[in-house]
Amino acid sequence: MSFSIRVAHLYGDLMNTYGDIGNILVLQFYAKQIGVTVTSKVVSLEEDFQADAYDFAVFGGGQDFEQSIVAKDLQTKKKELIKFIEQNKPLVAVCGGYQMLGKYYVDAEGRKLPGISAMNHYTEQQHEHRFIGDILIKNAATGQEYHGFENHQGVTYLGKNEHPLGKVLKGYGNNGTDGTEGAVYKNTTGTYFHGPIMARNGNFAVHMMFQALETKYPDTDFTEMKNQVQISGY
Ligand code: GLN
Repeated sequence: MSFSIRVAHLYGDLMNTYGDIGNILVLQFYAKQIGVTVTSKVVSLEEDFQADAYDFAVFGGGQDFEQSIVAKDLQTKKKELIKFIEQNKPLVAVCGGYQMLGKYYVDAEGRKLPGISAMNHYTEQQHEHRFIGDILIKNAATGQEYHGFENHQGVTYLGKNEHPLGKVLKGYGNNGTDGTEGAVYKNTTGTYFHGPIMARNGNFAVHMMFQALETKYPDTDFTEMKNQVQISGY
Protein backbone atom coordinates (compact mmCIF):
# COMPACT_ATOMS: atom_id res chain seq x y z
CA MET A 1 0.00 0.00 0.00
CA SER A 2 1.29 3.46 -0.75
CA PHE A 3 0.61 6.40 1.53
CA SER A 4 0.38 10.07 0.71
CA ILE A 5 -0.17 13.38 2.49
CA ARG A 6 -1.69 16.31 0.57
CA VAL A 7 -0.70 19.63 2.16
CA ALA A 8 -2.55 22.93 1.84
CA HIS A 9 -0.14 25.81 2.37
CA LEU A 10 -2.62 28.49 3.38
CA TYR A 11 -1.67 31.91 1.99
CA GLY A 12 1.89 30.66 1.54
CA ASP A 13 2.66 33.68 -0.69
CA LEU A 14 1.59 36.20 1.97
CA MET A 15 2.06 34.50 5.31
CA ASN A 16 5.57 33.04 5.36
CA THR A 17 7.55 34.95 7.99
CA TYR A 18 11.00 33.53 8.80
CA GLY A 19 10.56 30.75 6.25
CA ASP A 20 7.51 29.06 7.76
CA ILE A 21 7.42 27.07 4.50
CA GLY A 22 10.23 25.05 6.10
CA ASN A 23 7.51 23.19 7.99
CA ILE A 24 6.41 21.60 4.72
CA LEU A 25 9.98 20.79 3.64
CA VAL A 26 10.53 19.06 6.96
CA LEU A 27 7.33 17.07 6.58
CA GLN A 28 8.65 15.92 3.19
CA PHE A 29 12.00 15.02 4.77
CA TYR A 30 10.45 12.70 7.36
CA ALA A 31 7.83 11.32 4.99
CA LYS A 32 10.58 10.29 2.54
CA GLN A 33 12.23 8.20 5.25
CA ILE A 34 9.14 5.99 5.41
CA GLY A 35 8.20 6.09 1.73
CA VAL A 36 5.23 8.44 2.14
CA THR A 37 4.58 10.93 -0.69
CA VAL A 38 3.94 14.57 0.23
CA THR A 39 2.43 17.01 -2.26
CA SER A 40 1.73 20.61 -1.40
CA LYS A 41 -0.22 23.47 -2.90
CA VAL A 42 -0.40 27.13 -1.93
CA VAL A 43 -4.03 28.09 -1.37
CA SER A 44 -4.19 31.88 -1.41
CA LEU A 45 -6.56 34.79 -2.05
CA GLU A 46 -9.69 33.95 -4.01
CA GLU A 47 -8.64 30.32 -4.34
CA ASP A 48 -10.90 27.51 -3.38
CA PHE A 49 -10.13 25.48 -0.25
CA GLN A 50 -11.94 22.17 0.07
CA ALA A 51 -11.39 20.22 3.28
CA ASP A 52 -11.65 16.90 1.45
CA ALA A 53 -8.79 17.78 -0.91
CA TYR A 54 -6.14 17.93 1.85
CA ASP A 55 -4.76 15.85 4.73
CA PHE A 56 -2.54 18.46 6.39
CA ALA A 57 -2.46 22.25 6.43
CA VAL A 58 0.17 24.84 7.25
CA PHE A 59 -0.73 28.48 7.93
CA GLY A 60 2.30 30.71 8.50
CA GLY A 61 2.80 34.08 10.14
CA GLY A 62 2.77 37.51 8.58
CA GLN A 63 3.05 41.21 9.15
CA ASP A 64 -0.04 43.26 9.94
CA PHE A 65 -0.49 44.51 6.36
CA GLU A 66 -0.56 41.02 4.81
CA GLN A 67 -2.60 39.75 7.74
CA SER A 68 -5.31 42.36 7.13
CA ILE A 69 -5.64 41.22 3.49
CA VAL A 70 -5.75 37.58 4.50
CA ALA A 71 -8.30 38.27 7.26
CA LYS A 72 -10.94 39.28 4.69
CA ASP A 73 -10.36 36.36 2.34
CA LEU A 74 -10.21 33.89 5.21
CA GLN A 75 -13.91 34.39 5.89
CA THR A 76 -14.64 32.79 2.49
CA LYS A 77 -12.74 29.66 3.58
CA LYS A 78 -14.12 29.60 7.12
CA LYS A 79 -16.70 26.85 6.62
CA GLU A 80 -14.30 24.40 4.94
CA LEU A 81 -11.46 25.19 7.37
CA ILE A 82 -13.68 24.47 10.34
CA LYS A 83 -14.77 21.23 8.64
CA PHE A 84 -11.09 20.30 8.12
CA ILE A 85 -10.26 20.94 11.78
CA GLU A 86 -13.36 19.16 13.07
CA GLN A 87 -12.43 16.10 10.97
CA ASN A 88 -9.26 15.87 13.11
CA LYS A 89 -6.97 16.70 10.23
CA PRO A 90 -3.72 18.26 11.45
CA LEU A 91 -3.06 21.93 10.93
CA VAL A 92 0.00 23.85 12.11
CA ALA A 93 -0.70 27.57 12.40
CA VAL A 94 2.13 29.95 13.26
CA CYS A 95 1.88 33.41 14.80
CA GLY A 96 -0.39 35.45 12.46
CA GLY A 97 -2.00 32.23 11.20
CA TYR A 98 -2.56 31.08 14.77
CA GLN A 99 -4.12 34.44 15.68
CA MET A 100 -6.52 34.25 12.70
CA LEU A 101 -7.88 30.82 13.66
CA GLY A 102 -9.15 32.39 16.87
CA LYS A 103 -11.90 34.94 17.49
CA TYR A 104 -10.05 38.14 16.58
CA TYR A 105 -6.71 39.92 16.35
CA VAL A 106 -6.13 43.57 17.27
CA ASP A 107 -3.21 44.87 15.22
CA ALA A 108 -0.49 47.36 16.17
CA GLU A 109 -2.69 50.26 15.02
CA GLY A 110 -5.61 49.10 17.15
CA ARG A 111 -7.66 47.72 14.23
CA LYS A 112 -9.68 44.64 15.12
CA LEU A 113 -9.50 41.91 12.48
CA PRO A 114 -12.05 39.12 12.82
CA GLY A 115 -10.70 35.58 12.94
CA ILE A 116 -12.74 32.53 11.99
CA SER A 117 -13.44 31.30 15.55
CA ALA A 118 -12.33 27.79 14.67
CA MET A 119 -10.61 27.96 18.06
CA ASN A 120 -11.61 30.02 21.07
CA HIS A 121 -8.54 32.16 21.75
CA TYR A 122 -8.44 35.88 21.04
CA THR A 123 -5.55 38.30 20.53
CA GLU A 124 -5.31 41.80 21.94
CA GLN A 125 -2.95 44.62 21.09
CA GLN A 126 0.26 45.19 22.98
CA HIS A 127 0.96 48.91 23.26
CA GLU A 128 4.12 50.02 21.45
CA HIS A 129 5.89 46.77 22.21
CA ARG A 130 6.70 43.40 20.65
CA PHE A 131 7.80 40.10 22.10
CA ILE A 132 10.98 39.20 20.24
CA GLY A 133 13.54 36.51 20.97
CA ASP A 134 14.30 32.86 21.50
CA ILE A 135 11.72 30.79 23.31
CA LEU A 136 11.74 27.41 25.01
CA ILE A 137 8.68 25.53 26.23
CA LYS A 138 7.81 22.16 27.76
CA ASN A 139 4.84 20.12 26.59
CA ALA A 140 2.89 18.88 29.60
CA ALA A 141 1.63 15.64 28.02
CA THR A 142 4.94 14.35 26.61
CA GLY A 143 7.55 16.22 28.66
CA GLN A 144 9.19 17.22 25.37
CA GLU A 145 10.85 20.61 25.09
CA TYR A 146 10.38 22.74 21.96
CA HIS A 147 12.71 25.50 20.78
CA GLY A 148 11.71 28.47 18.65
CA PHE A 149 11.90 32.15 17.90
CA GLU A 150 9.01 34.55 18.49
CA ASN A 151 8.29 38.03 17.13
CA HIS A 152 4.77 39.29 17.75
CA GLN A 153 2.96 42.31 19.06
CA GLY A 154 -0.33 40.49 19.66
CA VAL A 155 -1.05 38.96 23.06
CA THR A 156 -3.20 35.85 22.96
CA TYR A 157 -5.49 34.46 25.63
CA LEU A 158 -6.78 30.91 25.45
CA GLY A 159 -10.46 30.05 25.48
CA LYS A 160 -12.72 27.04 25.95
CA ASN A 161 -11.74 23.58 24.65
CA GLU A 162 -8.11 24.36 23.94
CA HIS A 163 -4.97 23.77 25.95
CA PRO A 164 -1.50 25.27 25.59
CA LEU A 165 1.15 23.59 23.44
CA GLY A 166 3.53 24.11 26.32
CA LYS A 167 4.58 25.94 29.44
CA VAL A 168 7.07 28.74 28.86
CA LEU A 169 10.54 28.03 30.26
CA LYS A 170 12.22 30.94 28.49
CA GLY A 171 10.65 33.78 26.45
CA TYR A 172 7.10 35.18 26.38
CA GLY A 173 4.66 32.81 24.63
CA ASN A 174 0.98 33.69 24.28
CA ASN A 175 0.90 36.83 26.37
CA GLY A 176 3.98 37.08 28.59
CA THR A 177 1.95 36.74 31.76
CA ASP A 178 0.21 33.37 32.17
CA GLY A 179 3.16 31.13 31.20
CA THR A 180 1.32 29.46 28.30
CA GLU A 181 2.51 29.07 24.71
CA GLY A 182 0.35 28.11 21.74
CA ALA A 183 -2.95 26.32 21.66
CA VAL A 184 -4.00 22.79 20.79
CA TYR A 185 -7.53 21.88 19.73
CA LYS A 186 -8.14 18.41 18.26
CA ASN A 187 -5.17 17.90 15.88
CA THR A 188 -4.70 21.61 15.23
CA THR A 189 -1.76 23.35 16.82
CA GLY A 190 -1.39 27.11 16.96
CA THR A 191 1.95 28.50 18.09
CA TYR A 192 4.10 31.63 18.09
CA PHE A 193 7.16 29.56 17.09
CA HIS A 194 8.95 30.49 13.95
CA GLY A 195 12.19 28.75 13.29
CA PRO A 196 10.35 26.96 11.63
CA ILE A 197 8.85 24.94 14.48
CA MET A 198 8.95 21.58 12.65
CA ALA A 199 12.55 22.06 11.50
CA ARG A 200 13.86 22.83 14.95
CA ASN A 201 11.72 20.25 16.69
CA GLY A 202 11.82 16.96 14.84
CA ASN A 203 9.81 15.23 17.57
CA PHE A 204 6.94 17.66 16.98
CA ALA A 205 7.19 17.27 13.18
CA VAL A 206 7.02 13.50 13.38
CA HIS A 207 4.11 13.66 15.81
CA MET A 208 2.15 15.85 13.37
CA MET A 209 3.04 13.64 10.39
CA PHE A 210 1.63 10.54 12.09
CA GLN A 211 -1.48 12.45 13.13
CA ALA A 212 -2.06 13.07 9.42
CA LEU A 213 -1.43 9.44 8.48
CA GLU A 214 -3.52 7.99 11.30
CA THR A 215 -6.43 10.31 10.48
CA LYS A 216 -6.30 9.49 6.78
CA TYR A 217 -5.69 5.74 7.15
CA PRO A 218 -7.51 4.77 10.38
CA ASP A 219 -7.23 1.02 9.72
CA THR A 220 -3.44 1.00 9.37
CA ASP A 221 -1.06 0.28 12.23
CA PHE A 222 1.84 2.73 11.90
CA THR A 223 3.93 1.35 14.80
CA GLU A 224 6.62 -0.09 12.54
CA MET A 225 6.93 3.12 10.53
CA LYS A 226 7.19 5.13 13.74
CA ASN A 227 10.18 3.02 14.73
CA GLN A 228 11.85 3.60 11.35
CA VAL A 229 11.91 7.41 11.55
CA GLN A 230 15.23 8.99 12.51
CA ILE A 231 14.49 12.25 14.29
CA SER A 232 16.83 15.19 13.72
CA GLY A 233 17.01 18.52 15.54
CA TYR A 234 16.64 18.79 19.29
N1 GLN B 1 1.26 40.54 12.85
C1 GLN B 1 1.20 39.68 13.98
C2 GLN B 1 1.78 40.29 15.24
O1 GLN B 1 2.60 41.18 15.14
C3 GLN B 1 1.85 38.32 13.67
C4 GLN B 1 3.34 38.42 13.51
C5 GLN B 1 3.97 37.15 12.98
O2 GLN B 1 3.32 36.34 12.33
N2 GLN B 1 5.26 36.98 13.21
O3 GLN B 1 1.43 39.89 16.33
